[in-house]
Amino acid sequence: MIYWGIFMTTIAVFGHKKPDTDAIVSAIVMTYWLNQQGIDAKSYRLDDINQETKFLIELAKVRLPELLTHLEPDQLAALVDHNESQQSTAHLADANICYLVDHHKLGDLTTAEPAYIRFEPVGSTSTILYHMFMEKNLLTSQQMATLMAGAIISDTLNLTGPTTTDSDKQALQAVIHLAGIHDTNRFANQLFDAKSNISDLTDDALVTTDYKQFMFSNKKWAIASIETVKPDVVLSRTDGIQQASELIRQRDGLDYMLVIIVDILKQQSWAVGSNDAQNEIIEQAFDTRLNDKLLDLGHLVSRKKQFVPTLEAFYAK
Ligand code: MN
Ligand code: MN
Repeated sequence: MIYWGIFMTTIAVFGHKKPDTDAIVSAIVMTYWLNQQGIDAKSYRLDDINQETKFLIELAKVRLPELLTHLEPDQLAALVDHNESQQSTAHLADANICYLVDHHKLGDLTTAEPAYIRFEPVGSTSTILYHMFMEKNLLTSQQMATLMAGAIISDTLNLTGPTTTDSDKQALQAVIHLAGIHDTNRFANQLFDAKSNISDLTDDALVTTDYKQFMFSNKKWAIASIETVKPDVVLSRTDGIQQASELIRQRDGLDYMLVIIVDILKQQSWAVGSNDAQNEIIEQAFDTRLNDKLLDLGHLVSRKKQFVPTLEAFYAK
């Protein structure tokens, strides 16, 4: 059979399933970084994009990466913004991973051959990519700078979230300048407003837009995050969110499905568990009490740096 989509010598570049803005932007920018060095690469996405990403892609006037439908045997692949097989394409076993750029904890992936592997404990993969452009003295374009600015703001909640580092602040300042953006806070508000526009989303889509699976001990969890500047709008849909998450839990063969609603501006969050057993785990792990279907998580906002480590610590006991 002949596939017209991709040649084996072309590196397929992609971020995680249920992509956030950093996952899509990292794929596009990493592809540009490779292409600038004469390396054949093409960016892909693993799922539909969210409203924030759509706004940014249109603002930067770049093409949306195509949906990845398959990989050739031994297809060269560059993974960005993730490194756990559960968060990647189901076709990953066919791939030959040659690049890996990420800011999450080290996961379960391995490579068949020596690869370019780049991890930094910073707020976004786009911050690492900015460093990679600088190190190679490669010029980035205004379009790429706009994308990186949006992704850094998205992942760090405009430099206010707990994952923010000085590197992110410096990178954002540089790409904002290159992008020709005059008012960073206005730009951030436009991104957050786009992300908070959920009126067209079904409860299932609301819960699965930013959804990641994890193994804790031998339990299969999914943690969904709904980041918003309009928490009242999301909280008014708590019943629907809970019903949708129980259906997703059954559909995806999960032990537990957790939905976390994050107020970006006030930096606080609430969790919705899918059943009583899970609510008890959350009460214990986060030292909180169930109150009318909601578990108040206080000022925690980061899945990567707060929710996942807390659940790992709970299961390690
Ligand atoms: Mn991501
Ligand atoms: Mn990221």
